Amino acid sequence: MAFFPEVKRKLRQIFNLTSFRPHQLEVISTTLSGEDAVVLMPTGGGKSLCYQLPAICDSGKTRGVTVVICPLLALMINQVEALKEKGVDVAFYNSEQDAKESDQVTRRLRSKGNRPRIFYITPEKLKHSSLVGRLLNEIRDDRELARFVIDEGHLVIKWGRDFREAYKYLECLRTDFPGIPIMALTATATQQVKEDLIRILKIRGCKVYWQSMNRPNLNYEVRPKKGVDREIVQFIRAHHAEETGIIYARSRQTCENVAKKLRESYGLKARHFHAKMQNVDKKDALAKWQSGQCKIIVATIAFGMGIDKPDVRYVIHHDLPNDLDGYYQETGRAGRDGKPADCILYYSWGDVNTRRRMIRDNTECDSREKEHQEQEILRVAQFCQNNVDCRRTQVLAYYNETFDPDLCENGCDNCRNPSGIEEEDVTDMAVKIIQLAEVLVDGGKFTITRNQLLEFLWGKSGASTRAIQMQSHELFGSGKNMPRDRTERIADRLESMGIFRIFSKQNGEWSAAYLEVRYLCDLFTLS
Ligand code: ADP
Ligand code: MG
Ligand code: ZN
Repeated sequence: MAFFPEVKRKLRQIFNLTSFRPHQLEVISTTLSGEDAVVLMPTGGGKSLCYQLPAICDSGKTRGVTVVICPLLALMINQVEALKEKGVDVAFYNSEQDAKESDQVTRRLRSKGNRPRIFYITPEKLKHSSLVGRLLNEIRDDRELARFVIDEGHLVIKWGRDFREAYKYLECLRTDFPGIPIMALTATATQQVKEDLIRILKIRGCKVYWQSMNRPNLNYEVRPKKGVDREIVQFIRAHHAEETGIIYARSRQTCENVAKKLRESYGLKARHFHAKMQNVDKKDALAKWQSGQCKIIVATIAFGMGIDKPDVRYVIHHDLPNDLDGYYQETGRAGRDGKPADCILYYSWGDVNTRRRMIRDNTECDSREKEHQEQEILRVAQFCQNNVDCRRTQVLAYYNETFDPDLCENGCDNCRNPSGIEEEDVTDMAVKIIQLAEVLVDGGKFTITRNQLLEFLWGKSGASTRAIQMQSHELFGSGKNMPRDRTERIADRLESMGIFRIFSKQNGEWSAAYLEVRYLCDLFTLS
């Protein structure tokens, strides 16, 4: 790996930091060498430095402007202000600028040899502004286009939960700007996100920096949802009375009600936050929370992306998150400073059904997307119901990461509280599940999802041709008599043992996660 002494110097001089976090130096060297990179780092891992620091360096093969594509204006403004304080020359367009101010930005972007180091832009602006298109071409023709950076890169992917149409345009970066290095960063590290990112951005051969998603300083806990508001108050008073936290709730109404209740009935400093508020109110709530005047923000998932408050000591899910990725990103906003923080999730089956009803009633989704969303909420329910396996092991398995529960060090409710474990030999069922998977895949003639496999096991016959073909098979319904959560756990275990592997496959515009059976020969000789 190339080494650039300037990088270390500027880390100290400009960012006032003494050392790199894992992968930061490698990513920076890669991009300075002109190579593409996909960077997966957990929230708070320090992704911004990976592109801000090379942007102000003159070593390496790249020269000129680093274009950062960033999904949220608020996030952009935060970063721009912090960079300006450090004396970094940075530019961006903002809907709140007047004509004079945006002309000024344009002029700077046209001043050959004296252009800003970093140019922030939203994907929408990049897609819709012909001026920006012309500017980028000019910069490139002057050989002053250093790199493209795509922050929150998982948004590029079509069925991401907050996909935005404009991200689709990023598919063209490689073809429109051949030879300009691309860096994509995300905290969503499923195998599928990685593969899709590389495919969509056309950066095969890029360097991939993949980090454990584990956040050792976060403590995870799931609690049954009964008298939730009171319990939350008790918890905050007992453990975090003067500290800052986030409470996530599903609906705007719940946010407002809970915040009000915390203030009026319990005298806590709480504010609500959701997408439908006036901009001034949003800014005010955010500023008060960030400065510590208000300790608790009760918010929908509209709150959080890019909010860099290091000392959030707890994240509470008042309602069920839509998927495990959402859960992990939201809890990830706690403890960015590396000090301990608590994550509590309140679970009830009623919430699962509420969500399912919402999915079914949503007229904007096609049936495939609905099916996907339904599987996601069931996966969350399964996570909540599983009060045996380490929470980290469970949630990291969602990202295809194998996590040794011994490393949890009592950092979750299930590891702290191992009571009630009964041993049961489930080898027979495990073998049946593997055999069934093998029969279904039939030597690669068919593809199945984890959910389809389980449904066959439970004897649920869907409308698919494959289901009808299979109904008479002896393994169909062979898991009927075992509790569902147990068969689900066996399937999870097979996945974490590497016997099942999840892979993504493209079907037209969509990609879906399918299951593959490995090491089968060995197993059959064993059984
Ligand atoms: P991410 O985008 O990965 O969630 P950020 O880039 O916002 O994370 O960084 C999270 C926090 O970590 C910030 O407060 C940042 O200043 C800090 N940070 C980043 N890199 C380092 C480093 N090498 N040393 C110390 N602090 C760092
Ligand atoms: Mg970030
Ligand atoms: Zn644990």
